Amino acid sequence: MSRILRVVLNSRPGKNGEPVPENFRVEESTLTTDLKPGEVLVRTLYLSVDPYMRCRMNEDTGADYLSPWVLSECVDGGGVGVVESSRHDAFSKGDTVTSFNWRWQTCDVVDGSRLQKLDPDLVNGHLSYFLGAVGMPGLTALLGVREKGHLKPGANQTMVISGAAGACGSVAGQIGKLDGCGRVVGICGSEEKCRVLVSELGFSSAVNYRKGDVSAALRESCPDGVDVYFDNVGGAISDTVIAQMNKDSHVILCGQISQYNKDVAYPPPLSTETQELLHSKNITRERFMVLSYMEKHEAGLLQLSQWVKAGQIKVLETIVNGIENMGGAFCSMMTGGNIGKQIVKISD
Ligand code: NDP
Repeated sequence: MSRILRVVLNSRPGKNGEPVPENFRVEESTLTTDLKPGEVLVRTLYLSVDPYMRCRMNEDTGADYLSPWVLSECVDGGGVGVVESSRHDAFSKGDTVTSFNWRWQTCDVVDGSRLQKLDPDLVNGHLSYFLGAVGMPGLTALLGVREKGHLKPGANQTMVISGAAGACGSVAGQIGKLDGCGRVVGICGSEEKCRVLVSELGFSSAVNYRKGDVSAALRESCPDGVDVYFDNVGGAISDTVIAQMNKDSHVILCGQISQYNKDVAYPPPLSTETQELLHSKNITRERFMVLSYMEKHEAGLLQLSQWVKAGQIKVLETIVNGIENMGGAFCSMMTGGNIGKQIVKISD
């Protein structure tokens, strides 16, 4: 038996409520560490907080691929950890492993079939990158751009990214540049984020949507209009971008975080005006889901790893320490407290 800490769902924010740290509760618990055949004892190193988790806080997630978190039961999501002991043939002590359904616990005993082994060399030992730039958010950026962006190298296209300073957005913009866009413009929620996008990540320019006339600032940043829009946020920001899109251009419908605290179906309905614009300018806006491209994940992660190791993609992270801060980190990410991927470090 060993003593552990874990995070359970304490209460639900309600379909139209903003999540608060008190929706989560940290508890002491015990773990039986005598392994049965096929089981693995893992110690948690890093946990991820992601926007889709907001849906899991509702009783009805609104998505058939997402199950709701259960009240007073341990919450789960993306995690990375190290094998402490194993009775599964594929894993040995010291292996680095990950899962999309890692319980928010300091240690856990899991069925080995639910774990994937990771090669720390892919991230030069920065294991938290497996939850960000060389993990699901990085793949979302890469496959979103490649599958739905219709980029034409040499065509001097302008790409706009909303949520640009976040985990997916910061990588998507850099891939836009690597894949040949002439101009890459980020939209995000602070002056500091704008500065980082331009001076550290090589974005052509950035617009702070919380300040001034966003439409005018975007027009100045995109004098030739917008050819590709990587949409992470939806709502009024996306209406503003779509109004400046060119004929035959493309929206990568990645996420709509501005609507996640509202009880609306996904993707949320567009205004009549925006719908008419899409139609009259022949703008594509197909829903993108990273989980629909599982067969491309392995090659995608290798590509992301190569770019990161070569310094062609710069990785931004906001890391907080301690399992007791999981709820706070989630709520902070949902309100823009992060630059790059929000990570919680659980142990060394
Ligand atoms: P981020 O790291 O981008 O964190 C969320 C960010 O959203 C915040 O930092 C904040 O930045 C911004 N934000 C929050 N509320 C608003 C608002 N009302 N208006 C505008 N911006 C807001 O998260 P991820 O990179 O993990 O996810 C980004 C998007 O990608 C989400 O919509 C998510 O659901 C989606 N996604 C989709 C996937 C798919 O398969 N389609 C897979 C993974 C993610 P700021 O300071 O700029 O406001």
